[in-house]
Amino acid sequence: MSVTHRLPPVRGKLIENAPLADMTWLRVGGPAEVLFLPADEADLANFLAETSDDVPVQILGAGSNTLVRDGGVPGVVVRLTAAFAKVEAVGENRLKAGAAALDKKVAQTAAKEGIAGLEFFTGVPGAIGGAIRMNAGCYGTETCDVLVEAVALDRMGRRLIVQPDELGYAYRHSEAPDDWIFVEATIQGTADDPAAIDARMAEITSRREETQPIREKTSGSTFKNPDPPGTPDQRKAWKLIDQTGWRGKRIGGARFSEQHANFLINDGTASAADLEAVGEGALADIKSATGIDLHWEVRRIGVEKAS
Ligand SMILES: Cc1cc2nc3c(=O)[nH]c(=O)nc-3n(C[C@H](O)[C@H](O)[C@H](O)COP(=O)(O)OP(=O)(O)OC[C@H]3O[C@@H](n4cnc5c(N)ncnc54)[C@H](O)[C@@H]3O)c2cc1C
Repeated sequence: MSVTHRLPPVRGKLIENAPLADMTWLRVGGPAEVLFLPADEADLANFLAETSDDVPVQILGAGSNTLVRDGGVPGVVVRLTAAFAKVEAVGENRLKAGAAALDKKVAQTAAKEGIAGLEFFTGVPGAIGGAIRMNAGCYGTETCDVLVEAVALDRMGRRLIVQPDELGYAYRHSEAPDDWIFVEATIQGTADDPAAIDARMAEITSRREETQPIREKTSGSTFKNPDPPGTPDQRKAWKLIDQTGWRGKRIGGARFSEQHANFLINDGTASAADLEAVGEGALADIKSATGIDLHWEVRRIGVEKAS
């Protein structure tokens, strides 16, 4: 029996067999058994409270760090709607942002308000919920450095207000329970001249264009670096991929980028299985050549296609 019959009435939308590929940057993978687009926070909270906890529920943000497997995602995938995408200044150089607000919109709003320190968000193509979960960051700043507090709904639909020190942050990692859905964040910056902030954002954008294949179907860095930023002689995932001959090496329509060896690319014909095979092939060769265990930064969800 379809899982839909076990779900409570909602004010938003429940869509059966909903394609997910176009909701991700990699543009691969099968459908969600059910996609839930909540009307607002109360709708989402009620859904979580009323849905039996043996129904799998997971959240997809802007899909810039997610690979959906070819067999699709059993259970419910939640995608936050425009009701969760507001960004507003709340005084003291702070912004309140809904979890579906794109990081870039947060950076732009901050610049307009003369709030500095959030420029790095312009280089991260996800939304704020994903940034809180992944501790997204670049060029020396991470989400945990600027987060004042986050609001999450747990699997029972309870509203929790949490501070960064409760989220167990590390490099591209948080210890937030897997079933929490962040719905809002308060973010702190410092005062500065909007023109100076704009200039720093433009600098980040042009640095990205030069060094990363940002117009490709990619999910950014595939593996975490083995050492966090700031480690002397930091070992880099891209170098290990390069040294083991995986830069540009192809399986089906998938390969690591020639421009940035840690970025997986779908040339338009790849399946999720092709992309995962390239990643797993590189991991195995790196392990046998160097003894180093790299770990996926990209989140992989769903099941493989039955053959
Ligand atoms: C071209 C490119 C460049 C990139 N550069 C960087 C970079 O410089 N630095 C960096 O850190 N990352 C980078 N990334 C990776 C990615 O943008 C970040 O990890 C981003 O924070 C993911 O956000 P998202 O909304 O797309 O999350 P998704 O990919 O949708 O989800 C990622 C994870 O977050 C969880 N999640 C999403 N929304 C919520 C929510 N509301 N509540 C709870 N959990 C949630 C998902 O369940 C999943 O586990 C890059 C990606 C691309 C494609």
